[in-house]
Amino acid sequence: MRIDDLAINGGEPIIPKKLPAYSSIGKEESLAVQEVIKRGSLSGFYGSWTQEFFGGYEVKRLEEEWCKKFKVNHAISMNSNTSGLYASMGAIEISPGDEVIVPPLTMSATAMSSIIYGGIPIFADIDKDTFCIDIEDVKRKINSKTKAIISVNLFGNPAANHELLKLCRNKNIYLIEDNAQAPLATEQGKYTGTIGDIGIFSLNYHKHIHSGEGGICVTNNPKLALRLQGIRNHGENIVKHTSCSTVNMIGFNFRMTELSASIGYVQLKKIESEVRKRKKLAEKISAGIGSLEGISAPFIRKDCEHVYYVLAIKYDEDLLGVSISKFSEALNAEGFPNWTGYSEPLYLLPIFQKKIAIGKDGWPFNLSQNSYQKGICPVAERLHEKELICFETCAYEISDENIKLLIKAFIKVYKKRHLL
Ligand SMILES: *Cc1c(COP(=O)(O)O)cnc(C)c1O
Repeated sequence: MRIDDLAINGGEPIIPKKLPAYSSIGKEESLAVQEVIKRGSLSGFYGSWTQEFFGGYEVKRLEEEWCKKFKVNHAISMNSNTSGLYASMGAIEISPGDEVIVPPLTMSATAMSSIIYGGIPIFADIDKDTFCIDIEDVKRKINSKTKAIISVNLFGNPAANHELLKLCRNKNIYLIEDNAQAPLATEQGKYTGTIGDIGIFSLNYHKHIHSGEGGICVTNNPKLALRLQGIRNHGENIVKHTSCSTVNMIGFNFRMTELSASIGYVQLKKIESEVRKRKKLAEKISAGIGSLEGISAPFIRKDCEHVYYVLAIKYDEDLLGVSISKFSEALNAEGFPNWTGYSEPLYLLPIFQKKIAIGKDGWPFNLSQNSYQKGICPVAERLHEKELICFETCAYEISDENIKLLIKAFIKVYKKRHLL
């Protein structure tokens, strides 16, 4: 045994200690929360038609700032991005049997959101380079039942949202952007999340900025904004407000607390620097390893800015001659934390394989002939099985020194991979 052996074979790891966890929460957030507690009103919402229907001081202030920052007319806070997705499906009036086209490689909530309204998720494959929904496959899957497309700006890389929007306008369908992973990413100079009819941001603990839990829907459409506000707060009750039809509206309680909103407000002020840190980290690692044969750093289309929620490195198993799982394990042993494949293509989850989502009789899947068999999205399956190495950029406090060590660890495993 020699100390320069691979750590997985008993050698010395390049990064001997676990990378320190990162937290963007500090004194300002603490003071903001104390202020709210002093005021004593921990939620400003009231489920009846008063000004409080739209939330309290902190919620409204956060929404106003969000509008300014992202240059949109309406920001509607929620208690999560998942809630925002559900509310969006209700806002655009998804009805039983309507089809909603989604990518399979994403967090599960993207695909689940339409099902509670009886919608049928239809999976379109992803692009082999950007890992976002593939517009050519979307075109093949659009039909008269298609009501919406949910585009995900996966890992912080913009999907082809402008092109998707054109397609949607031609076909009279909605474009929803799940922008949980991509705050401040841009496509053609426009923030992702603000290109489609509704965009949804996440403020959960793992994202670039957070308030513990939380989400923000943005839209420039006043009618959709009002429906989102209704669904957020028991909208079926609101019969006095005549411009918002409250039939075909089941309200939830998706309201954000004043505490979360106060943290979100402070975090929003830091968003530029928080995102910049993650970009720098990912760009340096990419530059350090991207020229290795068989390894590809993230691909960014022209006129796009990537914000790297996840640094997803593409691995060519055939060329490198070592299975991705072995390579990944060896990296972890050197102290380079990573996992492979991101997440399983969602249609392989039991809910789709057994076609049981709500109740026992297969509703709403029994309204459709759609199949979820393995093989429907071959690119997503291949990326999941043997091509993606993922590093969660927001999870770690990373010094310049550690960036160098991460690159060194990667190159060590790369060069000695024949010993695996
Ligand atoms: C994190 C995430 C969500 C869910 O966000 P929550 O705020 O936790 O509900 C949805 N979609 C994507 C793509 C995500 O990354």
